Amino acid sequence: MAKKHSGQCACGAVAFEFDTDPSFVAVCHCLDCKRATGGEAATFFGVPDDDFTLISGAPKAFHYVAQSGKGLDRNFCPECGARVFSSNLESFPGTVFVTLGSLDRPQEIAPMVEMFTRRRLAWATPLDVPQFENMPG
Ligand SMILES: [Zn+2]
Ligand SMILES: [Zn+2]
Repeated sequence: MAKKHSGQCACGAVAFEFDTDPSFVAVCHCLDCKRATGGEAATFFGVPDDDFTLISGAPKAFHYVAQSGKGLDRNFCPECGARVFSSNLESFPGTVFVTLGSLDRPQEIAPMVEMFTRRRLAWATPLDVPQFENMPG
């Protein structure tokens, strides 16, 4: 049976699904997210890695050390180049971070916090959710 949530890369070669309703959905304005997405911020959320299921494709992992000094793998589609999820995070073991825009129904999940707001560009308007200058906690 298909899981509750599904997503894919831009060309559809890489597809995944999961059941967990995310409890942490962040809009992150940090410089790493800007570089990785090419946008002002990234919106992503955590899913337990025993729930996250790849259903097609073979994403390529790029190992990367974030500005925090912690390593992670950014996984992208080798066909279309779209970034789809991050895994093997030293700072969040057992959690895969999925980018909201990769979902088939992104309207079902909304941001709960904004973080690294000290890196938010002046033209970006804060959302009506808790704001954190750096990482929450
Ligand atoms: Zn693709
Ligand atoms: Zn970030």
